[in-house]
Amino acid sequence: MATTTTTTSTRRRRRWLPICLATALVGGGTALVPAVAAAGGSDPAHPGHGHARSVIFVNGDGMAAAHREAGRLDQVGLDGQLAMDLLPVTGLQTTDPRDPEATVTDSAAAASAWSTGVKTYNGAISVDVAGHPLPTIGAQAREAGKATGLVTTAQVTDATPAAFFSNTTDRGLQDQIARQYLERSRPQVVLGGGEDWWRPAGDEGVFPPRAGDPADPEVSRSTQGDLVAEAQQLGYDYVSDAAGLRAADGDHLLGLFANEEMFQMRPEGQGDEYAPVVPLADMTRKALDVLSDDRDGFFLLVEEEGVDEMSHDNNGTRMLQAMRALDDAVQVARDYVAAHPDTLLVVTGDHECGGLTIEDVDPADESGPGGTLGGAPAGAGGTVSGEDGPFAVAGGNGGTFALDWTTTSHTGAPTVVTAEGPGSRDLVGFYPNTHVHEVLAAALLG
Ligand SMILES: [Zn+2]
Repeated sequence: MATTTTTTSTRRRRRWLPICLATALVGGGTALVPAVAAAGGSDPAHPGHGHARSVIFVNGDGMAAAHREAGRLDQVGLDGQLAMDLLPVTGLQTTDPRDPEATVTDSAAAASAWSTGVKTYNGAISVDVAGHPLPTIGAQAREAGKATGLVTTAQVTDATPAAFFSNTTDRGLQDQIARQYLERSRPQVVLGGGEDWWRPAGDEGVFPPRAGDPADPEVSRSTQGDLVAEAQQLGYDYVSDAAGLRAADGDHLLGLFANEEMFQMRPEGQGDEYAPVVPLADMTRKALDVLSDDRDGFFLLVEEEGVDEMSHDNNGTRMLQAMRALDDAVQVARDYVAAHPDTLLVVTGDHECGGLTIEDVDPADESGPGGTLGGAPAGAGGTVSGEDGPFAVAGGNGGTFALDWTTTSHTGAPTVVTAEGPGSRDLVGFYPNTHVHEVLAAALLG
């Protein structure tokens, strides 16, 4: 219980600080933030402050400033803005974990910081550095009477959604995380990949093992029995394809659309694929349809995992595809917020991935092999990672850009936070990722 006390006191102590900070930085000038003014229905004197009936939290996994700018150049060009960049409030967050072996975070520690307000070690799912479980936003929202849901192109039990709806000392225990969804946190909407963790070996479900890839056969592996059957007994509508998702009309929905991620990572040279059978935007729209029936409001987590995974592979083409899918989902969320201004929308990334930057195309400045622009071989002055491009700048002006990667891992570069709606003004500034938790908790539960 000591951990609960710590979390509560931290929230209480910090609730007023960001409000003062935001007011000082923005100067109370509502003219600077007209969309917030329109959205801040609960506190007209301080638009962007106040309580939110609902929260939509969007994670572009692995997405930092360069990913967003690359997406902007690719999708809308020099004079355009992505949906995620049109949100009126902007901040920056640092993402470091509390890990004796790492200064750079993984998705588990980062999402745990968002969900609980407590820094922890890489691999931890909403437990502290001693392994003690912490209250999660997902569970707290449900206790407050709100509907909850998660949508992701990763496994539905992958680190980010897991940290919002479960507690475990090891992110790899995905079948135990699935069981916690059913027995404890009970999100009403669960949509994404990861069927393998819901079906025991020998019961391959809808998606059979992948043939011809012994290194990554994607076989069912639940040690918790047939969790799909248990979900159905608990009242979940279970669907596995786009038509089933469209037809589902229950108030509890489990959709598993792939064995693992909803896209395919392949060994180098064999080509990654990004073609989810249900687009993230469609999953988001369906989740909002279901959750908005709750008069008490809801908490919805939306995640695009492809930004991170394609950055691990230094695959700029596929990363840009994932950014398009993500921004389409953000537009769905923005449309919902426009009609429901008592909703807080936050769009951010849990950490940077790839050490990505954007460059002009310059054959004399290629940093290494691996990308489509080639360059010096590794070990001969080149880096392990490479350079991708050229990519066309949208808008038909003939401009191009290159994507240069410096690592196939995560980095400690801060990530951008954009937001609108009640509570969003408290996200102005430069802060640790635990501050995002304070804002979410104050807006949704305070
Ligand atoms: Zn990653």
